Amino acid sequence: MTDLIIGSGPSGIATATALLARGRSVTLLDGGKLPEPEAIARRDALAARAPEDWSQPERAAYQAPQFAAPEGQTRRYGSDFAQEAAADTLAEGCDGFALRASRAVGGLSNLWGAAVLPYRQHDIADWPVTAEELAPHYRAVAGFMPIAGREDALDNLLPGYLAPGATQIPPPPQAEALLARLDAKRDRLRAMGVHTGAARQAVEAGCIRCGMCLHGCPWGHIYSARKTLETLKAHPRFTYRPGALVAGFSETEDGVTLALADGRTVTGTRVFIGAGVLETARLMLASAPGTPRELILKDSQHAFLPLLHRWRTKLRPDRPPHHTLPQLFAEIEHPDVSDRLVHAQFYTWNEHYARDLLQNYGARLPGSAPLLMAMSRRLIVAQMFLHSDHSARIGLRLAADGRLNARVEVNPDTGRVLDAAKRKLSRAMAQAGLVALGFAARPGAPGSSFHVGGTVPMAATPAPGQSDRLGRPHGLRRVHIVDASVLPSIPATTITFSVMANAHRIGAEAR
Ligand SMILES: Cc1cc2nc3c(=O)[nH]c(=O)nc-3n(C[C@H](O)[C@H](O)[C@H](O)COP(=O)(O)OP(=O)(O)OC[C@H]3O[C@@H](n4cnc5c(N)ncnc54)[C@H](O)[C@@H]3O)c2cc1C
Repeated sequence: MTDLIIGSGPSGIATATALLARGRSVTLLDGGKLPEPEAIARRDALAARAPEDWSQPERAAYQAPQFAAPEGQTRRYGSDFAQEAAADTLAEGCDGFALRASRAVGGLSNLWGAAVLPYRQHDIADWPVTAEELAPHYRAVAGFMPIAGREDALDNLLPGYLAPGATQIPPPPQAEALLARLDAKRDRLRAMGVHTGAARQAVEAGCIRCGMCLHGCPWGHIYSARKTLETLKAHPRFTYRPGALVAGFSETEDGVTLALADGRTVTGTRVFIGAGVLETARLMLASAPGTPRELILKDSQHAFLPLLHRWRTKLRPDRPPHHTLPQLFAEIEHPDVSDRLVHAQFYTWNEHYARDLLQNYGARLPGSAPLLMAMSRRLIVAQMFLHSDHSARIGLRLAADGRLNARVEVNPDTGRVLDAAKRKLSRAMAQAGLVALGFAARPGAPGSSFHVGGTVPMAATPAPGQSDRLGRPHGLRRVHIVDASVLPSIPATTITFSVMANAHRIGAEAR
């Protein structure tokens, strides 16, 4: 018999890799959605020629569908394949709650920003698993997921897990200038409790900086779990069943049975659920005996802080070669802000800046367009993330029609910690020649960071509603949850690398 995995996103793929390495047979099921043929044709047409040969209208046509995406929907290649529309999986409560599920091959990793950081022990002190225990699994994940970056002072706080010979994607000129300025002030910043360094991204070394990161890399250089899936398909003990949407599961003495939405069933020795936190919650609420009526999802809330650089640049930031993934990380480690790290990632120029400025301020300030365009070329945006201790929680219940109802519980601490983080980051960045536009800072809605989890948290001695170290919900022996649903808390540093390391650990340890 085979082990079953639900989901080909980062968590399912990391589990499959670990199970296959142990000699297990694996059958992986997923929702099977892919970009439509027109979207693939659009991507391939661009990839057929070097970016220098793309005309401006061609660039604009490739980007247009992403600019036209409805609020809250993230598109790539002009396709919505990777993210379900809210109403497809949420019945009530989708207004103030921005998290969305994926039924795509590769899940949400088709859309992600590819920012990669591990968790620090102090931030997961409430977990029954330590950062030291996760370390070999971070390394194993880094063995199949490319990580671009460079060794710098940030490694002292958060190891980079860079492969020998790993290189960084050359940062755009504004980011390079900011990194140099921050480096020159490193001791002063450290005394303020701010650690900075170059961003690490899950991107292949072949990136040619065409600047299309937010529209769908024409060459697929940004890592998606689909890439590893392609490799796994060649494995003799791996079976892939795309488009097998799971509606529920049941456990017997010697196996598990999955009920598919089309009425068929699939059996296996055990099941590893990596369906993403919303779909996993739905499966738990629908199937697992003893699951509380409401599961509580923990969020890592985020906010955007715009800053302007005071220095002049010779090179126009809006002219490639460049990339528009995160380029710098800053970690705030200061008790006046939080007992936990606050993480910030910085984005220099991208093609959304001028549009957003014109949209938000252009109509209110007639004649301001040239000024706003010039400002957009000096704009740098910091995206700050908080630990789940300071963030909203979301109650999830099963609706009568099988979708989920969501109920947001605001955390009274969020505003205070975000304000303190904003002030600290603004003062620190002033050292490097940035002026923070604190009045224009914008918090994201609960769930919109997509750094969420903790509905069935791992515990050393699990009670009903919790899971053990192997992600097994209380009372179940053959069902393991491997996605962020089992993380006991959500630190501020990026989530996916740790989800993958933990999923790999469960796949390696579940005997
Ligand atoms: C715009 C955006 C930017 C992001 N940026 C970052 C970032 O920079 N860094 C970071 O760390 N994280 C980032 N994330 C978050 C990251 O994408 C997720 O943490 C990650 O994809 C979660 O992986 P997963 O495998 O748990 O679930 P998912 O990626 O959601 O995959 C779920 C899988 O389960 C399958 N599935 C779902 N339901 C069923 C079902 N009922 N039956 C069968 N199969 C099913 C799907 O087909 C899919 O294969 C970002 C997310 C978004 C949307």
